[in-house]
Amino acid sequence: MHKLYDRDGHQNLFFHDLCEGAAVQANQHVIVDHGEAMLLDPGGHKVYTKLFAELASLVPPSGLKHLFFSHQDPDIVAAANGWLMVTEATAHVSKLWTRFIPHFGIDAFAVDRMIGIEDGGGKLAVGSGQVKFLPAHFLHSSGNIQVYDCVSKILYSGDLGAAVGPEYAFVEDFEAHARHMRGFHQRYMPTSRAIRAWARMVRGLDIETIAPQHGAMFVGKEMVGRFIDWVESLECGIELLEELYQVPD
Ligand code: FE
Repeated sequence: MHKLYDRDGHQNLFFHDLCEGAAVQANQHVIVDHGEAMLLDPGGHKVYTKLFAELASLVPPSGLKHLFFSHQDPDIVAAANGWLMVTEATAHVSKLWTRFIPHFGIDAFAVDRMIGIEDGGGKLAVGSGQVKFLPAHFLHSSGNIQVYDCVSKILYSGDLGAAVGPEYAFVEDFEAHARHMRGFHQRYMPTSRAIRAWARMVRGLDIETIAPQHGAMFVGKEMVGRFIDWVESLECGIELLEELYQVPD
């Protein structure tokens, strides 16, 4: 478990190494404010058992008030039913996915606790703090939301800023780290037009840390700025379409 913030009854924590085997590395983030918790992108079944035990040492299951799913991918929602069954938490996800996620097997009694986030985002109280749901559509999913924690000034960026490969939890050498992000963003992000719209939006926020769902954290305003500049200038997705469309030999 790693800490991103811990002050005045408010904590931002994450688990970096609960995934094993063939499953892609993923971070599970937790916001705790005065005994109330929000769990972000909790992941699949193998992570569920370990994460549940880890969380129990932080807050009782009754303290887990909110689940957040940045989008509909299995590394985020596969164990949604387990979390909804053992807690009374409300799950928040883009309204585009509330009728698709039940295909992962959400029990009828729990399905009403999955709340659709409007395309324009929104805000929510967590303990005495507040988070904002930011629109981040097409980064990479068509219904994609990020979370900005107004207390710690951490932006949870989901798949944006993801790196696959390195095992460290915090970015220290940005240039070296960018080599692990480039291929992922070029293929998983559909268009730089969405990234530019995102960059314009988040430059209006006071951000101390960018915390993606895969790979390492960008801590401090300088690192945050470097990431935004880097990703904004990257060509990706449909801009590289012609290279991709070739008949195989
Ligand atoms: Fe995804």
